[in-house]
Amino acid sequence: MLQLYIPLNFLGVVYRELKQSLTDMDRMFTLLGAAREVPDAPGAAPLAVSGGEVRFEHVRFGYESTRVILQDVTFSIAAGTTTAVVGPSGSGKSTLARLLFRFYDLDRAAGGAITIDGQDIRDVTQDSLRASIGIVPQDTVLFNDTIYYNIAYGRPDATREEVIAAARAAHIHDFIEGLPKGYDTPVGERGLKLSGGEKQRVAIARTLLKNPPILIFDEATSALDSHSERAIQQELDQIARGRTTLVIAHRLSTVVHAEQIIVMDHGRIVERGTHAQLLEAGGAFAQMWALQQRAASREQVRGLVQGEG
Ligand code: ADP
Ligand code: MG
Repeated sequence: MLQLYIPLNFLGVVYRELKQSLTDMDRMFTLLGAAREVPDAPGAAPLAVSGGEVRFEHVRFGYESTRVILQDVTFSIAAGTTTAVVGPSGSGKSTLARLLFRFYDLDRAAGGAITIDGQDIRDVTQDSLRASIGIVPQDTVLFNDTIYYNIAYGRPDATREEVIAAARAAHIHDFIEGLPKGYDTPVGERGLKLSGGEKQRVAIARTLLKNPPILIFDEATSALDSHSERAIQQELDQIARGRTTLVIAHRLSTVVHAEQIIVMDHGRIVERGTHAQLLEAGGAFAQMWALQQRAASREQVRGLVQGEG
Protein backbone atom coordinates (compact mmCIF):
# COMPACT_ATOMS: atom_id res chain seq x y z
CA MET A 1 0.00 0.00 0.00
CA LEU A 2 2.62 2.43 1.16
CA GLN A 3 4.87 1.57 -1.75
CA LEU A 4 2.08 2.20 -4.17
CA TYR A 5 0.94 5.35 -2.48
CA ILE A 6 4.27 7.20 -2.60
CA PRO A 7 5.00 6.93 -6.31
CA LEU A 8 1.42 7.75 -7.16
CA ASN A 9 1.52 10.82 -5.00
CA PHE A 10 4.82 11.81 -6.57
CA LEU A 11 3.39 11.26 -10.00
CA GLY A 12 0.49 13.44 -8.98
CA VAL A 13 2.87 16.34 -8.37
CA VAL A 14 4.73 15.80 -11.61
CA TYR A 15 1.46 15.50 -13.44
CA ARG A 16 0.16 18.71 -11.96
CA GLU A 17 3.32 20.58 -12.96
CA LEU A 18 3.32 19.09 -16.40
CA LYS A 19 -0.31 19.94 -16.82
CA GLN A 20 0.40 23.51 -15.74
CA SER A 21 3.16 23.99 -18.28
CA LEU A 22 0.94 22.42 -20.91
CA THR A 23 -1.82 24.80 -19.91
CA ASP A 24 0.54 27.72 -20.42
CA MET A 25 1.59 26.39 -23.81
CA ASP A 26 -2.02 25.79 -24.60
CA ARG A 27 -2.88 29.33 -23.70
CA MET A 28 -0.11 30.57 -25.89
CA PHE A 29 -1.63 28.69 -28.77
CA THR A 30 -5.18 29.73 -28.03
CA LEU A 31 -4.07 33.30 -27.88
CA LEU A 32 -2.95 33.00 -31.45
CA GLY A 33 -6.05 31.06 -32.34
CA ALA A 34 -4.13 27.86 -32.85
CA ALA A 35 -5.07 24.57 -31.30
CA ARG A 36 -1.95 22.46 -31.60
CA GLU A 37 1.72 22.49 -32.39
CA VAL A 38 3.03 21.02 -35.60
CA PRO A 39 5.90 18.51 -35.33
CA ASP A 40 9.36 18.95 -36.84
CA ALA A 41 9.86 17.04 -40.08
CA PRO A 42 12.37 14.17 -39.79
CA GLY A 43 15.84 15.58 -40.41
CA ALA A 44 14.61 19.19 -40.19
CA ALA A 45 17.49 21.66 -40.40
CA PRO A 46 17.73 24.96 -38.53
CA LEU A 47 16.51 28.00 -40.44
CA ALA A 48 19.37 30.13 -41.73
CA VAL A 49 18.25 33.75 -42.00
CA SER A 50 20.39 35.90 -44.29
CA GLY A 51 18.23 38.86 -45.34
CA GLY A 52 14.92 37.48 -44.14
CA GLU A 53 12.90 37.49 -47.37
CA VAL A 54 9.43 36.04 -46.75
CA ARG A 55 7.36 34.52 -49.55
CA PHE A 56 3.83 33.17 -49.58
CA GLU A 57 3.36 31.16 -52.78
CA HIS A 58 -0.12 30.01 -53.79
CA VAL A 59 -1.05 29.49 -50.17
CA ARG A 60 -4.37 27.70 -49.70
CA PHE A 61 -5.47 26.95 -46.21
CA GLY A 62 -8.45 26.06 -44.05
CA TYR A 63 -8.63 25.24 -40.35
CA GLU A 64 -11.12 22.54 -41.24
CA SER A 65 -11.09 20.60 -44.48
CA THR A 66 -14.64 21.69 -45.17
CA ARG A 67 -14.00 25.42 -45.13
CA VAL A 68 -11.34 27.18 -47.16
CA ILE A 69 -10.01 30.33 -45.47
CA LEU A 70 -7.12 31.39 -47.71
CA GLN A 71 -7.83 30.94 -51.38
CA ASP A 72 -4.60 31.40 -53.34
CA VAL A 73 -2.42 33.91 -51.59
CA THR A 74 0.86 34.94 -53.19
CA PHE A 75 3.05 37.82 -52.04
CA SER A 76 6.58 38.43 -50.91
CA ILE A 77 8.14 40.71 -48.37
CA ALA A 78 11.57 41.78 -49.56
CA ALA A 79 14.29 41.41 -46.96
CA GLY A 80 14.24 44.24 -44.46
CA THR A 81 11.00 45.80 -45.68
CA THR A 82 7.51 46.18 -44.24
CA THR A 83 4.36 44.73 -45.72
CA ALA A 84 1.09 45.81 -44.17
CA VAL A 85 -2.05 43.71 -44.37
CA VAL A 86 -5.42 45.38 -44.10
CA GLY A 87 -8.98 44.24 -44.69
CA PRO A 88 -12.25 43.53 -42.95
CA SER A 89 -12.46 41.36 -39.86
CA GLY A 90 -12.54 37.69 -40.78
CA SER A 91 -10.76 38.21 -44.11
CA GLY A 92 -7.81 36.00 -43.08
CA LYS A 93 -5.20 38.50 -41.86
CA SER A 94 -4.37 36.79 -38.58
CA THR A 95 -4.32 33.46 -40.38
CA LEU A 96 -1.37 34.74 -42.46
CA ALA A 97 0.46 35.58 -39.22
CA ARG A 98 -0.31 32.18 -37.67
CA LEU A 99 0.92 30.35 -40.76
CA LEU A 100 4.17 32.32 -40.90
CA PHE A 101 4.80 31.56 -37.22
CA ARG A 102 3.84 28.00 -38.14
CA PHE A 103 1.09 27.29 -35.70
CA TYR A 104 -0.36 25.32 -38.57
CA ASP A 105 1.38 23.56 -41.41
CA LEU A 106 0.27 23.92 -44.98
CA ASP A 107 -0.96 20.73 -46.59
CA ARG A 108 1.82 19.63 -48.96
CA ALA A 109 -0.76 18.09 -51.28
CA ALA A 110 -2.29 21.56 -51.85
CA GLY A 111 0.91 22.72 -53.56
CA GLY A 112 1.53 26.08 -51.86
CA ALA A 113 4.48 27.08 -49.70
CA ILE A 114 5.79 29.68 -47.30
CA THR A 115 9.51 30.31 -47.48
CA ILE A 116 12.06 32.40 -45.63
CA ASP A 117 15.23 33.09 -47.61
CA GLY A 118 14.22 30.26 -49.91
CA GLN A 119 13.72 27.66 -47.16
CA ASP A 120 10.29 26.07 -46.87
CA ILE A 121 9.27 26.65 -43.26
CA ARG A 122 7.86 23.11 -43.10
CA ASP A 123 11.42 21.81 -43.52
CA VAL A 124 13.11 23.75 -40.72
CA THR A 125 12.99 23.20 -36.96
CA GLN A 126 10.28 24.99 -35.02
CA ASP A 127 12.79 26.29 -32.49
CA SER A 128 14.96 27.97 -35.10
CA LEU A 129 11.94 29.43 -36.89
CA ARG A 130 10.44 30.88 -33.74
CA ALA A 131 13.79 32.20 -32.56
CA SER A 132 13.91 34.26 -35.77
CA ILE A 133 10.40 35.68 -35.55
CA GLY A 134 8.95 38.04 -32.96
CA ILE A 135 5.19 38.18 -32.79
CA VAL A 136 2.94 40.65 -31.02
CA PRO A 137 -0.44 38.94 -31.30
CA GLN A 138 -3.91 40.42 -31.23
CA ASP A 139 -4.62 39.12 -27.72
CA THR A 140 -1.74 38.44 -25.39
CA VAL A 141 -2.16 35.80 -22.72
CA LEU A 142 0.43 36.07 -19.97
CA PHE A 143 2.18 33.22 -18.19
CA ASN A 144 1.32 32.67 -14.53
CA ASP A 145 4.59 34.15 -13.39
CA THR A 146 6.11 37.52 -12.57
CA ILE A 147 5.86 40.42 -14.95
CA TYR A 148 9.66 40.24 -15.19
CA TYR A 149 9.50 36.64 -16.42
CA ASN A 150 6.82 37.57 -18.91
CA ILE A 151 9.08 40.18 -20.51
CA ALA A 152 12.37 38.25 -20.18
CA TYR A 153 10.70 35.28 -21.89
CA GLY A 154 11.57 37.09 -25.13
CA ARG A 155 15.25 36.43 -24.40
CA PRO A 156 15.85 34.48 -21.19
CA ASP A 157 19.57 35.38 -21.03
CA ALA A 158 18.88 39.14 -21.05
CA THR A 159 20.24 41.26 -18.19
CA ARG A 160 17.94 43.11 -15.84
CA GLU A 161 19.02 46.39 -17.46
CA GLU A 162 18.00 45.08 -20.88
CA VAL A 163 14.62 43.93 -19.57
CA ILE A 164 14.02 47.36 -18.04
CA ALA A 165 15.12 49.14 -21.22
CA ALA A 166 12.59 47.08 -23.21
CA ALA A 167 9.87 47.86 -20.66
CA ARG A 168 10.68 51.57 -20.92
CA ALA A 169 10.49 51.48 -24.71
CA ALA A 170 7.10 49.76 -24.47
CA HIS A 171 5.93 52.45 -22.01
CA ILE A 172 5.19 49.96 -19.25
CA HIS A 173 8.16 50.56 -16.92
CA ASP A 174 6.52 53.29 -14.84
CA PHE A 175 3.38 51.21 -14.42
CA ILE A 176 5.48 48.24 -13.24
CA GLU A 177 7.48 50.38 -10.82
CA GLY A 178 4.20 51.53 -9.30
CA LEU A 179 3.13 47.97 -8.42
CA PRO A 180 3.69 46.86 -4.80
CA LYS A 181 6.22 44.19 -5.83
CA GLY A 182 7.45 45.98 -8.95
CA TYR A 183 8.91 43.60 -11.54
CA ASP A 184 8.35 40.67 -9.14
CA THR A 185 4.57 41.11 -9.20
CA PRO A 186 2.84 37.88 -10.23
CA VAL A 187 0.56 38.36 -13.24
CA GLY A 188 -1.64 36.12 -15.35
CA GLU A 189 -4.72 34.17 -14.37
CA ARG A 190 -3.57 33.66 -10.79
CA GLY A 191 -1.85 37.01 -10.33
CA LEU A 192 -2.58 40.62 -11.05
CA LYS A 193 -4.96 40.90 -13.97
CA LEU A 194 -3.64 43.40 -16.48
CA SER A 195 -5.79 45.34 -18.89
CA GLY A 196 -5.69 44.58 -22.61
CA GLY A 197 -3.44 47.58 -23.22
CA GLU A 198 -1.04 46.61 -20.43
CA LYS A 199 -0.78 43.06 -21.73
CA GLN A 200 -0.13 44.41 -25.19
CA ARG A 201 2.74 46.51 -23.82
CA VAL A 202 4.22 43.45 -22.10
CA ALA A 203 4.12 41.60 -25.43
CA ILE A 204 5.74 44.58 -27.15
CA ALA A 205 8.48 44.75 -24.49
CA ARG A 206 9.08 41.01 -24.92
CA THR A 207 9.47 41.44 -28.68
CA LEU A 208 11.72 44.51 -28.39
CA LEU A 209 13.93 42.47 -26.06
CA LYS A 210 13.98 39.46 -28.36
CA ASN A 211 15.07 41.68 -31.23
CA PRO A 212 14.52 39.09 -34.01
CA PRO A 213 15.20 39.57 -37.76
CA ILE A 214 11.54 39.00 -38.69
CA LEU A 215 8.58 40.69 -37.01
CA ILE A 216 4.85 40.13 -36.98
CA PHE A 217 2.58 42.76 -35.44
CA ASP A 218 -1.03 41.62 -35.43
CA GLU A 219 -3.07 44.70 -34.53
CA ALA A 220 -0.35 45.14 -31.92
CA THR A 221 -1.62 48.45 -30.59
CA SER A 222 -5.36 47.92 -30.99
CA ALA A 223 -6.02 47.88 -27.22
CA LEU A 224 -4.17 51.13 -26.56
CA ASP A 225 -5.69 54.59 -26.43
CA SER A 226 -4.71 56.71 -29.42
CA HIS A 227 -2.17 58.76 -27.44
CA SER A 228 -0.23 55.67 -26.22
CA GLU A 229 -0.68 54.10 -29.61
CA ARG A 230 1.15 56.96 -31.31
CA ALA A 231 4.02 56.80 -28.80
CA ILE A 232 4.44 53.03 -29.02
CA GLN A 233 3.96 53.06 -32.77
CA GLN A 234 7.17 55.08 -32.99
CA GLU A 235 9.02 52.38 -31.06
CA LEU A 236 7.58 49.70 -33.32
CA ASP A 237 8.50 51.67 -36.45
CA GLN A 238 12.01 51.99 -35.13
CA ILE A 239 12.49 48.29 -34.42
CA ALA A 240 10.90 47.42 -37.77
CA ARG A 241 13.47 49.51 -39.63
CA GLY A 242 15.76 47.18 -41.59
CA ARG A 243 13.81 44.09 -40.49
CA THR A 244 11.33 42.04 -42.46
CA THR A 245 7.98 43.00 -40.99
CA LEU A 246 4.43 41.78 -41.49
CA VAL A 247 2.11 44.28 -39.88
CA ILE A 248 -1.59 43.71 -39.63
CA ALA A 249 -3.16 47.08 -39.11
CA HIS A 250 -6.54 48.17 -37.89
CA ARG A 251 -5.67 51.85 -38.15
CA LEU A 252 -4.61 52.64 -41.70
CA SER A 253 -2.68 55.77 -40.73
CA THR A 254 -0.04 53.49 -39.15
CA VAL A 255 0.86 51.83 -42.46
CA VAL A 256 1.26 54.85 -44.73
CA HIS A 257 5.02 54.25 -44.97
CA ALA A 258 4.94 50.49 -45.57
CA GLU A 259 6.80 49.45 -48.73
CA GLN A 260 3.76 47.37 -49.65
CA ILE A 261 0.14 47.26 -48.53
CA ILE A 262 -1.95 44.17 -49.17
CA VAL A 263 -5.73 44.36 -48.99
CA MET A 264 -7.43 41.09 -48.05
CA ASP A 265 -11.07 40.20 -48.50
CA HIS A 266 -12.63 36.76 -47.99
CA GLY A 267 -9.23 35.04 -47.95
CA ARG A 268 -7.95 36.63 -51.14
CA ILE A 269 -5.67 39.54 -51.94
CA VAL A 270 -7.89 42.06 -53.70
CA GLU A 271 -5.43 44.96 -53.98
CA ARG A 272 -1.76 45.64 -53.43
CA GLY A 273 0.58 48.58 -53.74
CA THR A 274 1.96 51.52 -51.85
CA HIS A 275 -0.32 53.87 -49.97
CA ALA A 276 -0.11 56.41 -52.81
CA GLN A 277 -0.79 53.79 -55.47
CA LEU A 278 -3.81 52.42 -53.63
CA LEU A 279 -5.30 55.88 -53.10
CA GLU A 280 -4.75 56.62 -56.77
CA ALA A 281 -6.45 53.35 -57.73
CA GLY A 282 -9.59 54.45 -55.86
CA GLY A 283 -10.62 50.91 -54.85
CA ALA A 284 -11.30 49.14 -51.57
CA PHE A 285 -8.32 50.67 -49.79
CA ALA A 286 -9.19 54.21 -50.87
CA GLN A 287 -12.71 53.70 -49.50
CA MET A 288 -11.46 52.37 -46.18
CA TRP A 289 -9.04 55.26 -45.99
CA ALA A 290 -11.76 57.86 -46.62
CA LEU A 291 -13.97 56.30 -43.94
CA GLN A 292 -11.21 56.32 -41.34
CA GLN A 293 -10.18 59.88 -42.20
CA ARG A 294 -13.75 61.03 -41.73
CA ALA A 295 -14.00 59.20 -38.39
CA ALA A 296 -10.68 60.69 -37.27
CA SER A 297 -11.73 64.26 -38.07
CA ARG A 298 -15.02 63.74 -36.23
CA GLU A 299 -12.97 62.66 -33.22
CA GLN A 300 -10.82 65.74 -33.55
CA VAL A 301 -13.82 68.05 -33.73
CA ARG A 302 -15.31 66.33 -30.67
CA GLY A 303 -12.00 66.79 -28.83
CA LEU A 304 -11.92 70.51 -29.71
CA VAL A 305 -15.51 71.04 -28.66
CA GLN A 306 -14.91 69.26 -25.37
CA GLY A 307 -11.67 71.19 -24.89
CA GLU A 308 -13.50 74.50 -25.27
CA GLY A 309 -16.49 73.47 -23.18
P1 ADP B 1 -8.88 38.42 -39.46
O1 ADP B 1 -7.60 38.42 -38.67
O2 ADP B 1 -8.75 39.03 -40.81
O3 ADP B 1 -10.01 39.04 -38.70
P2 ADP B 1 -8.71 35.52 -39.20
O4 ADP B 1 -7.52 35.16 -39.99
O5 ADP B 1 -8.57 35.54 -37.71
O6 ADP B 1 -9.32 36.91 -39.73
O7 ADP B 1 -9.88 34.52 -39.53
C1 ADP B 1 -10.25 34.21 -40.86
C2 ADP B 1 -11.38 33.21 -40.83
O8 ADP B 1 -10.92 32.00 -40.22
C3 ADP B 1 -12.58 33.66 -40.01
O9 ADP B 1 -13.73 33.26 -40.70
C4 ADP B 1 -12.44 32.89 -38.73
O10 ADP B 1 -13.71 32.61 -38.18
C5 ADP B 1 -11.76 31.62 -39.16
N1 ADP B 1 -10.91 31.06 -38.07
C6 ADP B 1 -9.96 31.70 -37.39
N2 ADP B 1 -9.36 30.90 -36.50
C7 ADP B 1 -9.96 29.71 -36.61
C8 ADP B 1 -9.81 28.44 -35.95
N3 ADP B 1 -8.89 28.27 -35.01
N4 ADP B 1 -10.61 27.43 -36.32
C9 ADP B 1 -11.55 27.60 -37.28
N5 ADP B 1 -11.75 28.76 -37.95
C10 ADP B 1 -10.97 29.80 -37.61
MG1 MG C 1 -7.12 39.15 -36.81
